[in-house]
Amino acid sequence: MESGMISVDKWSSGSQAYFLTHLHADHTAGLSSTWNRGPLFCSRLTAKLFPCKFPGFDLSLLRVLDIGCWHSLSLITPSSGSTAAVSVKAIDAQHCPGSVMYLFRGEFGCMLFTGDFRWEKIGNGMEIARTMLLDALKNETLDILYLDNTYCNPRYSFPSRELAARQVVDIINSHPKHDIIIGIDSLGKEDLLLYISRALNIKIWVWPERLQILHLLGFHDHFTTQTSLTRVRAVPRYSFSVETLEGLNSLRPTIGVMPSGLPWAEKALKRKGTLFGSFPSDIKMHDLSGDSKNIARRYHEYIYVVPYSDHSCFSEIQEFIELLRPINIKGIVSSSSSYIDPCYYFGHLCGTKQAYWRIHRKVENEEGIDRVEADETKSAEENTASSVAGRKRKIDQVDFLGIRVSRVSLLRRLSHGVKIAHNEYLS
Ligand SMILES: [Zn+2]
Repeated sequence: MESGMISVDKWSSGSQAYFLTHLHADHTAGLSSTWNRGPLFCSRLTAKLFPCKFPGFDLSLLRVLDIGCWHSLSLITPSSGSTAAVSVKAIDAQHCPGSVMYLFRGEFGCMLFTGDFRWEKIGNGMEIARTMLLDALKNETLDILYLDNTYCNPRYSFPSRELAARQVVDIINSHPKHDIIIGIDSLGKEDLLLYISRALNIKIWVWPERLQILHLLGFHDHFTTQTSLTRVRAVPRYSFSVETLEGLNSLRPTIGVMPSGLPWAEKALKRKGTLFGSFPSDIKMHDLSGDSKNIARRYHEYIYVVPYSDHSCFSEIQEFIELLRPINIKGIVSSSSSYIDPCYYFGHLCGTKQAYWRIHRKVENEEGIDRVEADETKSAEENTASSVAGRKRKIDQVDFLGIRVSRVSLLRRLSHGVKIAHNEYLS
């Protein structure tokens, strides 16, 4: 896609349509209540929460995209001045309330921007999202996957969020005389807090602005702003620190729980030189996987870090890419200290050859259309360029059998099981 048409989670001038995946601060940097650069597309829930984050924002600029529905846009191609039709579908990203991925389709091909996302193996919402995504792609090649690569490294292995929530409850139960503080953002981890509230039959203290958001989300019975009603408090992540815990412990015994991917704790606590590696034996942890990376850890006398993550771990990213078989992948997180180009690990799952594989498999599975002859498939695999980094191709063409082929024609022919002669479509 040409620049100057669409921006996702980027707010500099020069685009015709702006898309917001979710309301976390690192995705809204540059966006303000005085926004006037054009229509801003987001999910219905994000639109509902918008005034809390940006009071005074001109809400007439918001364009709500209902999840699972195709929406059409008419944009101008900057280079030619011609009209370009773009279709977009929002799909639940399973990250925080209102978070979505965007699937774009147009003359430029097909692109998926995940924003932040969690791709757990199980769960009702996951099944819906997986089906929605595959149905939306149908027989199309996914040309570019813009991927949440926060934990795109094999060292990051997390349990499900439900399992991690049970670990938090175990920690709280193991400290019956302690106050508990839990570090959270202004949005997200609601399911964790609800799980704790229900498991322990207690309310959870939150700060007033957070209570307002929880009420907007429909949670009225599990939270309070009265400290006298509960020993469990959810506090802003920025206020969660060793110093805070030490100060609180000078008044009352207090334990801090940080639900997060482990890199946060390693960075934050090592920086302060207060890393404690021991793990108390009096806490029974749920670790069903047998993976030592899957358990909560006590990093400090007063601090536990539980691997409750709203981002996908490495194995989940791998499953996602294996499912989609994109031609190319670009990581959207570049500031992470552990950043590695996703193609380093998953380049072998990418390329025209793999996109062909996905289309062909889907056609076989769902439509029962005649197969392209086996020797032809083999020939395609041998001849199709699979290197992602070195590929140079026109927007509407793909390399197939070593020649330039119209992408639309190729897909149409493959989906109908038609043989493709080697001398056809020579450019
Ligand atoms: Zn986020």
